[in-house]
Amino acid sequence: LRRAVLIGLIGEGVTPSLTPPMHELEGARHGMHYVYRTIDLAPGESTEEYVGRLLADARRLGFDGLNVTHPVKQTVLPLLDELAPAARTVGAVNTVVFDGDRMIGHNTDVTGFGAAFDETLGDAPRDLVVLVGAGGAGAAVASALAAREVGELVIADAAPGRAAALAASVAEVSTGRVRSIGTDELAGALADADGVVNATPFGMAAHPGAAFDVGLVPGRAFVADVVYRPVETELLVAARDRGCRVMSGLGMAMHQAADAFEIFTGEPADREAMLADLTDL
Ligand code: NAD
Repeated sequence: LRRAVLIGLIGEGVTPSLTPPMHELEGARHGMHYVYRTIDLAPGESTEEYVGRLLADARRLGFDGLNVTHPVKQTVLPLLDELAPAARTVGAVNTVVFDGDRMIGHNTDVTGFGAAFDETLGDAPRDLVVLVGAGGAGAAVASALAAREVGELVIADAAPGRAAALAASVAEVSTGRVRSIGTDELAGALADADGVVNATPFGMAAHPGAAFDVGLVPGRAFVADVVYRPVETELLVAARDRGCRVMSGLGMAMHQAADAFEIFTGEPADREAMLADLTDL
């Protein structure tokens, strides 16, 4: 009999997500009967009470674990029995695994961006890195960078309070300096940067363009994007033209799924195959 694995994804607007087919294709490679269902939250259902009931029901119905996404990555925190270090650092959870009576929260956006960064930009100079966008993805990026000896991390967001709050929390776990700036100070910071990461939605079809002028970024700097649909964002195309090293959001998307697969099943994910699947999907 094939090993049966049942996983769900809880969040708003999750029906078109590419995470379910990525997991199911990887499960099939492992000879598993791997079923991954989306559980789309209607407006008004993203409350601690409602999601708490869903988690309890999912466990009762035999789910092995869940991915959790916007807007409930923080909502689930008080519902869990234990947090893995990456989830604790970032204060958000995207993966919940049922371990007997216990629910354990992980954050594979953090480990996923970290793995993608190590692979693509591990040797890149990073005395000064600018992060644009301090939402969910930006928080994961900042946490991952805090563990990667960035001399100074400068965080900008169109909502200045969000950048300031993220800088304050990341400063507690970072060995380097962390500060926030207003978007009006971005030009100066970018001119000195060794690297810049876009963690805003700019670059997606619904948000064409870029959050900042790539002409302000030195050609010696790296430019990374978390957006992965499309893979080649306007930002990355323009950055490559300037001679910058670039990293797309595809690696993060694949590694977050691969890390979650390993947490759910205890088996090593075939990351190359998962990347090929994601590219084909
Ligand atoms: P979010 O809404 O939580 O955060 C986006 C942030 O960008 C907000 O704080 C907003 O104020 C800020 N922002 C918007 N325009 C800006 C501008 N011009 N200048 C500065 N800041 C600006 O969204 P999120 O969940 O963090 O997702 C952001 C993007 O990350 C999504 O569009 C998605 O494509 C991508 N993402 C990718 C992965 C992956 O695995 N590669 C994972 C998660 C999210």
